Amino acid sequence: MSLIVLSCLSSFEHKALPIHAPVMITADILQVRSGPGSSFSVIHQLQKGQKVGVIDRQGKWLFIQTTHYQGWIYEAYVKEIDFYTLTPQQQIDLSPGTFIIPSGASPYLQNKTIILDAGHGGKDKGATGTQGTYEKDLTLRTVLLLKTKLEQAGARVILTRKKDTYLHLSDRTLPSKSADAFISVHYNSVENKDLTGLMTYFYYKKQDSALTNAIHHSLVHHAKLQDKGQRFGDYYVLRENNRPSTLIELGFLSNKREEKYINSVTYQQSITTSIVRGLSNYFARH
Ligand SMILES: [Zn+2]
Repeated sequence: MSLIVLSCLSSFEHKALPIHAPVMITADILQVRSGPGSSFSVIHQLQKGQKVGVIDRQGKWLFIQTTHYQGWIYEAYVKEIDFYTLTPQQQIDLSPGTFIIPSGASPYLQNKTIILDAGHGGKDKGATGTQGTYEKDLTLRTVLLLKTKLEQAGARVILTRKKDTYLHLSDRTLPSKSADAFISVHYNSVENKDLTGLMTYFYYKKQDSALTNAIHHSLVHHAKLQDKGQRFGDYYVLRENNRPSTLIELGFLSNKREEKYINSVTYQQSITTSIVRGLSNYFARH
């Protein structure tokens, strides 16, 4: 099976582009869309040879920002360019560093080991949004951003997956023995398209609820999403875990408006900073 797949892939020859890389457009015309998927509306067009700065990614979609607009482009139609081949003015224009909001160091997070579990992956796509967002791509994006911020704050971070790979549930809890906290990140989807909001889950009241409570409060305080409460959840990653654990559902992909919002850089920045603060508050007391 892999022979055919490999020969198809090699004709593209594009490796995953890093965040913060300037790229050049290789298609004659490339659509800039309002979200990371081909069903999102077109908000701008780029032409062959134009250069843009990439500041976030989700699956095969890259988030770009200029002084005039921001949006998503498909990775297959760009190539990475060496930052140092740009003129000084281009380097400033295409440098997106100022956009990332650092959460800052926290004395309570120093030397804490935190496991971040990006829900789903590989053949398990999780939920699919109304505009085609895959939950597995969004959970990985959140976790990678959260990892950067937690490390900036002084914590050690272990990821259950670093890319789009399939994991058995038992692999997800495997490294948790030595962790100070375990967070499993998910996004929701239900039949009722009106439902919105975020919720958090615990399994063992004594072991998990203080962690769940600290993260929940920080999230609902900072993220502009409806508070759907803290609940008991019979999930494997919580049940088969002997360290403080929580599972968070960060919004509904089945609601079109919410899908667009939770895909936004603003939301991703806000929830990841909120989770860092929630963890810091938790460790201040435990
Ligand atoms: Zn999920």
